[in-house]
Amino acid sequence: MTETVDLLKIEEMKVHFPIKSGVFNNKINYVKAVDGISFTVKKGESFGIVGESGCGKSTASRAVLQLIRPTSGKIYFKNAELTSLPKKQLRNLRKNIQMVFQDPYDSLNPRLTVAEILDEPLKAHKIGSKEERRNKIIEIMDVCGLNREYIHRYAHEFSGGQRQRIGIARALILKPELVVADEPVSALDVSIQSQILNLMMDLQETLNLTYLFISHDLSVVRHFCDRVGVMYLGRMAELAETNSLFENPLHPYTKSLLSAIPISNPREKRERISLQGDVPSPVDPPIGCAFSSRCPEVMDICRTSRPAMKEARPDHYVACHLYTEKRG
Ligand code: SF4
Repeated sequence: MTETVDLLKIEEMKVHFPIKSGVFNNKINYVKAVDGISFTVKKGESFGIVGESGCGKSTASRAVLQLIRPTSGKIYFKNAELTSLPKKQLRNLRKNIQMVFQDPYDSLNPRLTVAEILDEPLKAHKIGSKEERRNKIIEIMDVCGLNREYIHRYAHEFSGGQRQRIGIARALILKPELVVADEPVSALDVSIQSQILNLMMDLQETLNLTYLFISHDLSVVRHFCDRVGVMYLGRMAELAETNSLFENPLHPYTKSLLSAIPISNPREKRERISLQGDVPSPVDPPIGCAFSSRCPEVMDICRTSRPAMKEARPDHYVACHLYTEKRG
């Protein structure tokens, strides 16, 4: 059962990448990949971030891990503020926040055996003797459904699903509390996706894990996550419990995303909302609402004023002037 303690808290996080040009390599502009997002992840839950490719969700997840330093904003993990933590403390704390990567073919070194891959994080954090480390490796292989007889096989000898199990085992061998999973099943066959998602859900239960789950696939997010944040052009558009978001979406962008999900029942009818125009450049996003250039319900205020996140329904937040106007 989900506890209500905040494990991770993000406040107004921005990640802007400089664009340099000219002989002196001067900064001429910035790509605003993440442009001021705030959310919390409660201990024991799966919090999903969903959005189209390029919306900033993967950059946000890497900033949480401090693989990319945010331009501004605060990241609290338990009581520690990560952006201001000295390197040594940050390194110690990283044991507690691990990542599962998207592509199990790219993220594992094909020249290492399973034993070597799983030994790397233990060695890096100077954990245990050789024998203790080997016991931990066998234990995590069992937990992740990997046959221990394969311990000396190379990563390239495994199928995609098995490789992702190795990736998950590598993330969990340090016994983290928070796992950031960036599109962990999108590179896998559909039949294998559910096996990996079910494994991750079982592990959450047995190891008391918390997930920050990044995906472009709304069906996967609906199946896996307790709460979901929808990102558009570096900003958070809507944030709610999964059922509330999927049953009663409020933001026009969320409504358009959900209208595009294929329906399995051919008798059920749903009107598809097709958006006009392209996603604006994150170098030069609209001044007001990020979605204003494509929104079917745009108003004058939307082009000049950025809407703040408001609680439109209990535990259901939306950044849209439609609700600001209605609720005052
Ligand atoms: Fe559409 Fe305006 Fe709401 Fe933005 S603020 S989503 S442009 S109605």
